[in-house]
Amino acid sequence: DSVIRAEGLGKTYREGKLNTPVFDGLHLDVYAGETVAIIGASGAGKSTLLHLLGGLDVPTAGEVYVDGHRMSKLSDRARGALRNRALGFVYQFHHLLPEFTALENVMLPALLTGQAVDGDKRGKPPTVAEVEPKARELLESVGLGHRLQHKPGELSGGERQRAAVARALVNRPACVLGDEPTGNLDDRTAATVFDLMLDLNRAQRTSLVLVTHDRSLARRLDRVLELHEGKLREVAPSSV
Ligand code: ADP
Ligand code: ADP
Repeated sequence: DSVIRAEGLGKTYREGKLNTPVFDGLHLDVYAGETVAIIGASGAGKSTLLHLLGGLDVPTAGEVYVDGHRMSKLSDRARGALRNRALGFVYQFHHLLPEFTALENVMLPALLTGQAVDGDKRGKPPTVAEVEPKARELLESVGLGHRLQHKPGELSGGERQRAAVARALVNRPACVLGDEPTGNLDDRTAATVFDLMLDLNRAQRTSLVLVTHDRSLARRLDRVLELHEGKLREVAPSSV
């Protein structure tokens, strides 16, 4: 079963009379537990594709299924609830909330669970006491056990990205979507954060879809897809 499926996916940005077709007719299946890199030149449409897969933007053609749910059929609220439950996001910039501690930032997505998706039963939102142990454990596993009460402004760049990785995993998502998650770090810190993401994904059996221009990182994933002139083609990781 695929955790994310794209069928005939297309996107054209329309601004007034200006049309920017990015791609059309893309097919993609991401299976449980696998790691997939999306590579391609700047402007090829990698971020656009990732946003569509994550339900952050709406396609102009085709359909995305997340965990079997057809995204276009869901209300905005239900789509938000599904995103929070089934997906984790890590961006180039951490997007942690500055006024909250690392621990609180990691707990937040867990506190927002219990929302309905597609007519299923809405659970009760969990309490802080219920989610805190998991958030602590994750922060410890990313090496931030000694930084639980620090706010993002008191953390280094690498520490902030590691907190963002912990936050992405706290709801045990089916898939983590990463858009250049190490792109803002120096090479050594980037390698550490990348290794951590791979280790945690494998340990949790979470799928990972990673947009990167860094071929040395891309070739370490199970599959590599190259976006070029509106087409997505699979390339052998060893050839990247
Ligand atoms: P990549 O991530 O591969 O660098 P993007 O997905 O960011 O590529 O962009 C693909 C194309 O879509 C580019 O031509 C870019 O200028 C255009 N584009 C991206 N976002 C928007 C937007 N919000 N409005 C209009 N055009 C956009
Ligand atoms: P249902 O909850 O049975 O789907 P409702 O009429 O109560 O139907 O909700 C309408 C839409 O809003 C549904 O798509 C539902 O998933 C969503 N929704 C309602 N309440 C919540 C909530 N507390 N959190 C998230 N989504 C919600």
